[in-house]
Amino acid sequence: MGSGMTMIPQTPDSGRLEQEQFLKILSREDALARFEIALFPRAIPREARKLADALGAALAEDITAPVDVPPFDRSNVDGFAVRSADLAAAGEGTPVRLAVNGETIHCGIAPTLQVVEGTATPIATGGPLPRGADAVVMVEHTQPAGPDAIDVRRAASPGQFVSYSGSDIARGEALLRAGTIIGSREIGMLAACGIAEVIVARKPRVAVISTGDELVQPGQPLAPAAIYDTNGAIVAAAIDENGGEAIFLGAIPDDEAKLEAAMRRALSDADMLVLSGGTSKGAGDLSHRIIGRLGQPGIIAHGVALKPGKPLCLAVCDGKPVVILPGFPTSAMFTFHDMIVPVLRRMAGLPVRSDARVNATVPVRISSELGRTEFVMVSLVEGRDGLIAYPSGKGSGAITSFAQADGFLRIDAMADQMPAGTATEVTLFTPHVRVPHLVIVGSHCTGLDLVTAQLAHAGLSVRSIAVGSLGGLAAAKRGECDLAPIHLFDDKSETYNTPYLVDGIELVPGWRRMQGIAFRKGDKRFEGLGAKEAVAAALADPACIMVNRNQGAGTRILIDRLLGGARPEGYWNQPRSHNAVAAAVAQHRADWGMTIAPVADAVGLGFIPFAEEHYDFAFVTARKQRPAVQAFLDALRSEEARTALERAGFRPAWPLSD
Ligand code: AMP
Ligand code: MG
Repeated sequence: MGSGMTMIPQTPDSGRLEQEQFLKILSREDALARFEIALFPRAIPREARKLADALGAALAEDITAPVDVPPFDRSNVDGFAVRSADLAAAGEGTPVRLAVNGETIHCGIAPTLQVVEGTATPIATGGPLPRGADAVVMVEHTQPAGPDAIDVRRAASPGQFVSYSGSDIARGEALLRAGTIIGSREIGMLAACGIAEVIVARKPRVAVISTGDELVQPGQPLAPAAIYDTNGAIVAAAIDENGGEAIFLGAIPDDEAKLEAAMRRALSDADMLVLSGGTSKGAGDLSHRIIGRLGQPGIIAHGVALKPGKPLCLAVCDGKPVVILPGFPTSAMFTFHDMIVPVLRRMAGLPVRSDARVNATVPVRISSELGRTEFVMVSLVEGRDGLIAYPSGKGSGAITSFAQADGFLRIDAMADQMPAGTATEVTLFTPHVRVPHLVIVGSHCTGLDLVTAQLAHAGLSVRSIAVGSLGGLAAAKRGECDLAPIHLFDDKSETYNTPYLVDGIELVPGWRRMQGIAFRKGDKRFEGLGAKEAVAAALADPACIMVNRNQGAGTRILIDRLLGGARPEGYWNQPRSHNAVAAAVAQHRADWGMTIAPVADAVGLGFIPFAEEHYDFAFVTARKQRPAVQAFLDALRSEEARTALERAGFRPAWPLSD
């Protein structure tokens, strides 16, 4: 997510939008320019490193070769050092006889005898050329002629099989430039020149603090209403990836005194401080208040017209950058890469990061907030005419989208949407597009992972994009995927999936999933009843709260059928997944909801079966012969998948039993 560093500051008020919550919302360019002006130019601290410890460091100065490599004229082959003029007449029928001199030049042996006219000296690969010789003939092109002579049947040109002194690296030549990251090849060049120590940019020490009463470190048990500290780990790793040395100081509760003490300690020790959380100006948001007391000039920008990432806070305290990233991990990462990485790399003496970009088309309309530069993570698949970029719309609170996405696209601050079919540029998270072997677009089911696991073990990569049944079917029709998992009920025919097929798309049976009422075990209102009676009992109790599903979900159709027009308490709570329904019931926010049996089982809920749903696969016929598609079909029909699916509570539907 590299951005230009030599940003020209805009006129003072350009791109600035007033917002009540934040003092001033700056445009991304404006905020970055102000931050950089407050920090640069600055001296980059340097340190000497032994070659063995220099891997990954950035050179702080240009390096000039102190010696010639090779240091002497050297033979490239095993053979004889000769005078080429002696062999001018040599040929297959006219061998030239040379007397062999009384020394052999092995590697590390300095020659003592001159090669005079009519003589040759045995020489090994890497041996220094003796005085008088100007070429080498290969041993294969000579024949012994008695104990002290050889016959040569080929002419030799001057310089043949000789590497001249300095031909690899010449003394005084610029060997490596400042800013070069030292890898194994650079280490090799330095060693060849005899350099044992280099001056590198000292990695900026960056203190990392997470803030929030709710945060628990990975490895610790999760208390109710607590969440794991994601930012601490991801920010520290991203700092190390970009030339810094992260010092993670843990999560500090939202307590002004404790936080201030931690921030002061961090700044006394480190070159830079990166906090996350506590910027959205809620009740517990303290860090930005504390910054004002830590040093001059203090806050440079608080509120940037970025999405995700508006609550970003940039400050400089007595020359040290202090950054407060938004709490949501995805927002934290986008702002970190977009706004902080350029500054960190500059402090670390590294060149601007260059990210690979590709052109792609968006298959669906993406709405966007007017006035904020918006970054949207996308997964790439190959369409009929080039790459297609699917937005992975999990929102800024999501973290998985980061790992599963291939890159991101950018929607201009002045646009309120990106229409379907727009050709756009995608910045990749990886150096190249990773084209998966198998592309699955449609409805997701945990059972699917049990099938694709076999492909992964066989070294086949699978990209699975969850866009719902209808979205998957549309993608299949456009030829953007190999198969689309669907569970679409047709009211008219009262059958699943088949009525939705078109030419070029064929159905392969998947499995059946039992939909039903989930409730907490022991709840007398539901225990022992059938689904219809259970819902009647729930409706009769005004204290009973339900959890619904989103409009368009297959499950929602079943719920509405059962409710028959009733709108009980909780009806408007409409989460988008089976798991969210189970969590709401398990955590007492609701008393019942409809979900699938394996999901209810997994959290220990009671379950009343209602209807079996058909989860099948719409295959694109034209792509069915592809090896990865065949591998999927094999995996689907394997005994291994059957066992795993049954164990997880699904009922495999092949061979077709109904
Ligand atoms: P805040 O800016 O503190 O209001 O946080 C915004 C959201 O991000 C809240 O849902 C926080 O729980 C969440 N959050 C804050 N810090 C972290 C963190 N280190 N890891 C994961 N989530 C976080
Ligand atoms: Mg917080």
